[in-house]
Amino acid sequence: MKPSLGKLIIASFLGYSTLFAPPFCPIDSSKISALVSHKAPLVAVAIIGGGPTGLAAALPPARSGYQPVVFQGPKPGGELAEAQVVENWPGLEKLSGAAAMEKLEHQAREFGALIVPLVVDDLDVTSWPYKLTLNNGTHVYALTVIIATGSTQGMLGIEGEQTYWGRGLFSCGLCDGSYAHGKDAVIIGGGDIAIQRALQLLPEARHSTLIVPGPRMTAHESMQEKIKGLETISVLYNKEVKEIVGDEKGITHIMLYDTVTHETSPFTTSCIFLSTGLTPNIELFKGKLDITKDGCVTLKECSRSQNTVLEGIMAAGTVSDPTYRQIATITGDGNKAGMDALSWLSKWGFDSTLRPLLSSNPYTPPVIPHPSIKHITTLKEFGRVLMEPKPVLLEFYAPGCPSCRKMEGPLTTITEDYKTSLNVYKIDKDKLYSLIELYDINFIPAFLLMKNGKEVSRLEGESNLTGLSDQVKKGLEQQAPQKL
Ligand SMILES: Cc1cc2nc3c(=O)[nH]c(=O)nc-3n(C[C@H](O)[C@H](O)[C@H](O)COP(=O)(O)OP(=O)(O)OC[C@H]3O[C@@H](n4cnc5c(N)ncnc54)[C@H](O)[C@@H]3O)c2cc1C
Repeated sequence: MKPSLGKLIIASFLGYSTLFAPPFCPIDSSKISALVSHKAPLVAVAIIGGGPTGLAAALPPARSGYQPVVFQGPKPGGELAEAQVVENWPGLEKLSGAAAMEKLEHQAREFGALIVPLVVDDLDVTSWPYKLTLNNGTHVYALTVIIATGSTQGMLGIEGEQTYWGRGLFSCGLCDGSYAHGKDAVIIGGGDIAIQRALQLLPEARHSTLIVPGPRMTAHESMQEKIKGLETISVLYNKEVKEIVGDEKGITHIMLYDTVTHETSPFTTSCIFLSTGLTPNIELFKGKLDITKDGCVTLKECSRSQNTVLEGIMAAGTVSDPTYRQIATITGDGNKAGMDALSWLSKWGFDSTLRPLLSSNPYTPPVIPHPSIKHITTLKEFGRVLMEPKPVLLEFYAPGCPSCRKMEGPLTTITEDYKTSLNVYKIDKDKLYSLIELYDINFIPAFLLMKNGKEVSRLEGESNLTGLSDQVKKGLEQQAPQKL
């Protein structure tokens, strides 16, 4: 959106957000009828994010019969799904983060929320109903939008970090914990999450060392108690990681700076998990919504609601709250956002006359993963697949890997688009690790297009529908090599 000079001057008096306020008010129901008559996918409440906040936000509209749609994004269940133990959610006894999220997801579904395993790639706020672009190439229009995209681990900005990211340096214990198997792992951080990561690695790592920058941990006392007396977890205080060092095989050691003695010394490890500061996931909203100095989505000033400065758009959870970041508070805020969406719909007269319109045109998300994608679990099966006459697309993935989840939408679209010319298979990298070595795969997800049993094109690491589509086209155009 390009603001005029006049608008810029006015905006400088009124505040940045006015500049981006979309040109509508109140709801123009004819736009809804037009979308419905064109069978365009339209929903009353779209929720971006399938973590605790997004699912809690779904409860009020779901209970009111609005069938909110939750786009889960790259990390279904959000950060909490990684927690080894959750013991501070009011009313719930100790349970794992995954079990807690299963309960919440079940509750939201029971009330009628639709939970869709797609990523929102773009949010167009220049006209209403708001348009969401999804990573399988489709669009959805929404009367209200709740932003619950959470946060991800920030990087340290030190040397070696980019080189070894995904090759010994990770942030997700759930997805990459198996890499620590039998190794001496390092966890950088001293908060609750760092301790949760150390507990998560207990069955895998030979030993884990937490590197804490100050003289004490910032984790809650009760969390610190959990690692006291454990022989396979130790803590180093007053240490800052200055560099990650290694060779072509991976990480060999880190350089540790002692903040008391001011000496720097090497510390041997081949496996590191970052558990330091979080960065709010605001990429989609930059230039559309105000962002605070903490990098969070700004809520409407002087308001106890979760409304943002844009009409009908709410935000909640760690994407808008840099302070509390606990499930009890963020699920409360998520619930408020769901109620705010209902109030907004009612304020603008979205009443019983419009509801039947939406019900006559229900949103049907694609089935993901595509039903014809099969899994290869043994080397024997792999050998048989290589002999297939049709070209074969192989995806090497890991369960819980956010980049792999991001590629499920694109992979489903490609599988459908090429259903007559391509067979698609998934391989869990941990189940057939010898293939990772054989094909020299450095990043997952990795997509290998095979013809006559030989690789003709490859795409490694996170990409998108265009990237995958280009790789497949390129591979299909290649002449088939001689049969194996
Ligand atoms: C290991 C670990 C243990 C923890 N233990 C505890 C604990 O015991 N108690 C406690 O109170 N807190 C705990 N926390 C913190 C808690 O998990 C977070 O406060 C909480 O998960 C934040 O919820 P959220 O929904 O706001 O964001 P997140 O959990 O980060 O969820 C964000 C969601 O948004 C989705 N998303 C992102 N981008 C997009 C997009 N473009 N399109 C669609 N979706 C998108 C993601 O896929 C994800 O589903 C822990 C955190 C970790 C990492």
